[in-house]
Amino acid sequence: MGKVSIQQFKKDFVKEFEQLYAYSYDEGTPREQFLALGEVIRNYYMDNWKQTISDYKTNETKQIFYFSMEFLPGRMLKSNLLNLDVLKTVQDGLKELGLNLDEVSRGEADPALGNGGLGRLASCFMDSIASTGLAGHGNGIRYQYGLFKQKFIDGYQIELPENWLRNGNVWEVRKENKAVIVRFGGQVYLEPDEAGRLYPRYENTQNILAVPYDVPQVGYKNGVVNNLRLWSAEIPYGEEYLFRTEEERDAVNQITEVLYPDDSNYEGRLLRLRQEYFFSSAGVQSVIRYFKILDEDWSLLPDKIGIHINDTHPALVVPELMRILIDEEGLTWNQAWEITKKTISYTNHTILQEAMERWPVDMMAHLLPRIYQIIVEINHRHIEKKLPLYGEELTYRTAIIDHDQIKMANLAIIGSHSINGVAKLHTNILINETLHDFYLMYPNKFNNKTNGITQRRWVQLSNPALTELLDDTIGTDWKCNPEELILLKAHADDKTVLDRLETVKLENKKRFAAYVKKEMGIEIDPTAIFDVQIKRLHAYKRQLLNVLHILERYNRIKDNPDIALPKRVFIFGAKAAPSYHYAKQIIKLINAVAEMVNNDPEIRDLIKVVFVENYGVSLAELIIPAADISEQISLAGKEASGTSNMKLMANGAVTMATMDGATIEIHDAVGKDNIYIFGLKNEEVQKYYQTQSYHSRTIYEGNASVKRVLNMLIDGSIPGIFNEGQDIFDSLVKFNDEYFLLKDFDSYINAQTQADIDFLGRDKWNKMALLNIAHSGPFSSDYTILRYADEIWKIEPQVDDATPIYSKVKPAE
Ligand SMILES: *Cc1c(COP(=O)(O)O)cnc(C)c1O
Repeated sequence: MGKVSIQQFKKDFVKEFEQLYAYSYDEGTPREQFLALGEVIRNYYMDNWKQTISDYKTNETKQIFYFSMEFLPGRMLKSNLLNLDVLKTVQDGLKELGLNLDEVSRGEADPALGNGGLGRLASCFMDSIASTGLAGHGNGIRYQYGLFKQKFIDGYQIELPENWLRNGNVWEVRKENKAVIVRFGGQVYLEPDEAGRLYPRYENTQNILAVPYDVPQVGYKNGVVNNLRLWSAEIPYGEEYLFRTEEERDAVNQITEVLYPDDSNYEGRLLRLRQEYFFSSAGVQSVIRYFKILDEDWSLLPDKIGIHINDTHPALVVPELMRILIDEEGLTWNQAWEITKKTISYTNHTILQEAMERWPVDMMAHLLPRIYQIIVEINHRHIEKKLPLYGEELTYRTAIIDHDQIKMANLAIIGSHSINGVAKLHTNILINETLHDFYLMYPNKFNNKTNGITQRRWVQLSNPALTELLDDTIGTDWKCNPEELILLKAHADDKTVLDRLETVKLENKKRFAAYVKKEMGIEIDPTAIFDVQIKRLHAYKRQLLNVLHILERYNRIKDNPDIALPKRVFIFGAKAAPSYHYAKQIIKLINAVAEMVNNDPEIRDLIKVVFVENYGVSLAELIIPAADISEQISLAGKEASGTSNMKLMANGAVTMATMDGATIEIHDAVGKDNIYIFGLKNEEVQKYYQTQSYHSRTIYEGNASVKRVLNMLIDGSIPGIFNEGQDIFDSLVKFNDEYFLLKDFDSYINAQTQADIDFLGRDKWNKMALLNIAHSGPFSSDYTILRYADEIWKIEPQVDDATPIYSKVKPAE
C-alpha cells in the first residue's frame, strides 16, 4: 500500500459508507461509521496480507503456529491504523468530516475471547510476532459468545451473555475452502492392510466441519500481515440429514458457542474437552495440509513448521499430530514421534495444582477413542524407556495416565522439545518443585521466557499524551526499540519534564474521573492518589488484602477526624468465574465497603472506592494511564508472571508489591527506591508450609488493628453484607488464612503509609514515575517474542533492513 493522503481517505470513507447504507455518513451511528471505516481499512492491508502469506510459501519460510484456547485482542481498529501507519491520516480525515476517531472506535465490539492474562499475552504476542517481522500465526476458537458481561446488582456479580458478533466482525474472513473435518466418538478398529500394517477403521463417528475465520495481524509499519485463524463448528455440507433432532444440531453449535462452559458438571467438562480437541485437530490438519503442498520429506516438518501450545489446553496436538503422521501418512511410530517432539513446544502458566488439567480416562476413551489409544501408547513407551534409568517411583510420577486420569502437562512435556515458565521465579519453581521429576529427565527442555506487553497498544494507543512527551523528550526510536526508553533517565531531575509528566497523568485521571462520574455517578478528585488493582478476582491475588487496608484506613480517619492524609481513590476491576463462590463474595464485600465509605461524610472524601463493572481490555486502556499505584499483592510464589504489572509500570504507576512473578524483575530493573515491596518472600512461605507453623488466629488475637478490621466483617459495621462477612472472616481466622493475608497485613499498611508520604512530595513521586517508565522497555513483548524465536522456534525476522522495521537488538536476559 502506498501512502494514503487525507483527501484519498476521506473519499474512500464517504463512498464506502454510502455504498453500505445508502445514506450519508453523518446520518449514521458510530457503529455504522465504524463498520464503514473498517471496510476502508481492510482494503489498505489486503494486498500485504496476501503477499505475506504467499512469500512464506514461496520461500518455504519456517512458520510458527501459536495454539491458544484464548485470545484477548481488544478493539482492533486503532491498532490496525497505528501499525499501517495511517492513524494520523484517519484521525485528521475524520475530523475534517466532523467525526471523532475515538467515538467511531467505540462502535467496535471488544472481543472477549479470553479470561485474562493468558489470552491477553497471546494477543500481545500476535502483535509482536508481526511487528518484529516473524512468520507466525495464531490458532484458536471463534467463540460466538465471549466471556460474560459483568453487571453488579445489589453489589453482587451477575453474568450476562456477551454477543460480540451481533453486528458481524469486519476484520474476519470466512475461508470455506480451508474447512476440515474433525471426528468425535464412535468406535475404532485396528485392521491390517495388505502389508500387514495396522490402520484404524472408524464406525459411528460424529463428523463436524471446522470452518476457519482468518483475522489479519498487522505488523508495525513493516508491511507484514500474519494470520490469526479462529475455528467455528458447523454441520458438514450435505450431511444435514445426519443431524435430525434439534439436540443433535445444538450439540454441533455448542462446540464453539461459549468460552469456558460451566465445568461444575460432567456435561460441561465434556464440552470443554470437545473444544480443546476441536481446535487442536483443525489447526494441526491445516498445518499439515500446508506442509504437503511444499512436497518435502516428512523429516523436514520441524524445519518448516513449529507448533507452540499456550498452556495445556491444546496439548492434544501431541497425539493428533502422531495420529495424522501414522494413520494418514503412513510413517512409523518412531519417525512420527521424533517429528512430533521436534515440532511442538509448550508454555506452562501456573503452579496452582487445581489449575493443572486432567481428564478422566473414560471421557477421553469415549470422546476420542483413537487419540486415547495413542496416548496410552505414548505413556507406555515413556514408562518403558525411563524405568531402567530412573527407577519406579520417579518414573511413575511422570506417567501421563495416573489413577484413571490423563495429565495434560505430562503429555505436553513428554511430547515437546521445550517447556518454558513465564517469569524467572516461576520457572525456578517449576524446575525445583512442581516439575522437578521432569527436570531430572529432560534438563535441556526447560527454559524461562518472562512475559511481556506491547507498548504499541499499552502506551502509544492508550496514552497518546505520554507518547507525545516521550517523543519530545527522547525522540521516537523507543517505538521501534523500547529499550530506548532508558534515555528518559537523563531527565529524572529535569523539573520541566517532571511537571509535564504530572500534567499528563492528571489529564488521564480527569478522563477516567469523567467516565466514573458518567457511568457510576461517583465524584472522584483527579488530584487524589489513584490506587489501582485490575485483574481476575482470585483468592491468591489477594484483592481482600487491599480491602483490609481500606477498612484500616477508614478506622484511622474515624478515630482522628483531623488526620492529614492524601486523598486516595481505590480502583478495582475484576471478574470472578461464575462458579467461584468465594471470589464472588469478595466482589460483594468490595461493593459494600464502597457504599459505606463513599457515603460517609466523616470520611471527607479522603477515601473513595470505585469498582468498575465489566473489566476488560477497553477499560484497562482507560484505567492504566490514570494509575498512580499498581497493586501487585499476590502471595509470593503464586502469580506465575503477571502482565498488568508491566502495563502499569510503562504508564508511570509505582508498584506496590510482594516479591512474586515478574514483579521481582520489575523490582530488579527499577531499583528498590522506586517500588514498594512488602510481605513474605517465596522461601518464607515455603518454610511455613513445610513446618506448618502459621497460625492466623494468633495474629488475629494479638494484633489490635487486624482484630478490629476483621471484626467489622461480622459485627454489622458494614451495611449490606450478609453471610459474606462471616464466610470471609472464617476463611481468615478459622481456616487459617491460606494466602497469609494477616501475616502480610502490617508490612502492607507500612508500605502504603510510605506511599502516602512520598505522593505528597510531588517531585519525588514524579521522579519515581519517570524512572518506572524509563525502565519499562525490557518488558516489551517484542523482546520476549524474539527470545522465543531465537531459542525455541529457531526462526528469524523476515523483513529486510530497508523497511522501517523493528530493531533486532535484543537485551541480555
Ligand atoms: C493485562 C490484562 C490482564 C492480566 O492481568 P494480571 O494482573 O497480570 O493478572 C487481565 N485482563 C485484562 C483485560 C488485561 O488487559
